[in-house]
Amino acid sequence: MIETNRRAFLQALLTGAAGLTLTYRTSGQGRGPAPITATKLTSRVVALSGAGGNVGLVIGPDGLIMIDGGLANRASDLAQAIAEVSPRMVEVLFNTHYHFDHVGSNEYLGKGRVRIIAHENVRRRLGVRFENPAMGRTMEPLQEVGRPTETFRERGTLGFGPETLEYTHTPMAHTDGDAFVFLPQANVVHAGDLFWTGRYPVVDYTVGGSLAAMAATLAQMDGVGDEATRIIPGHGAPGAGKAEMRQVRDIWLAINERLEAHAREGRSADDVVAAAPTRDFDARVGVRDAEGFVRQAYGGVLARRAAR
Ligand SMILES: [Zn+2]
Repeated sequence: MIETNRRAFLQALLTGAAGLTLTYRTSGQGRGPAPITATKLTSRVVALSGAGGNVGLVIGPDGLIMIDGGLANRASDLAQAIAEVSPRMVEVLFNTHYHFDHVGSNEYLGKGRVRIIAHENVRRRLGVRFENPAMGRTMEPLQEVGRPTETFRERGTLGFGPETLEYTHTPMAHTDGDAFVFLPQANVVHAGDLFWTGRYPVVDYTVGGSLAAMAATLAQMDGVGDEATRIIPGHGAPGAGKAEMRQVRDIWLAINERLEAHAREGRSADDVVAAAPTRDFDARVGVRDAEGFVRQAYGGVLARRAAR
């Protein structure tokens, strides 16, 4: 990983190979928030990591599209990092779902009248306060200025210079309002939190999420693009390939099968945690303590059974 200044990054962005990774220190050295890392996926698509969920940046001839906006307390750091990547202004912000670590730039950019596009359930969720046992917290609404200005139900297309955004809603997967974005010219997918690498996923079963549906969504995404398609996960290193996505899907399916078996036996969440249903996958995924994930995923299994 290379630490750099603006001039070096712009030079590298213009001339460097795809896959290049550069890191900014936005708040000096040492303690403070995590640095923001930029990964060049194509000459017009850059992923920014380190400020919440991964951010996709699409560089158009006259402006930028931002896919997800990280954490609210990192919104100005993200804006600074984006200014290092391109002098153009953000014209459109796309939200892959309603979680706070993906909509943190909504109010910041909404005040500048940036268009905000999301599934209609994202706008609905961002307008109310509600208790979320799956996430273990109260979900707070955004100010009206930060809520999506344009919503969709199933899918949509947005032309942006030489790139096109094709976005597709996947009902009841990680949440009830997820969408993934495919950029066919760049051959890049921004998966939001439908795909995770290097850790187990969050399963927001309070709003209809389940591991089984998330695995099914990965199978659906497998049909988008081709073998060369690069994927930006919601969390984890940007630029994963289809093979890695299939491995993740297989692990999720295997764990889900075990959780379903526990549910059929009527076991409590504590008993399931004690049975360590992820143990043989933890090293491969890169996780030491999977308890939180097991409780969430099992909660999703129980919620689905209760709804049947
Ligand atoms: Zn999420």
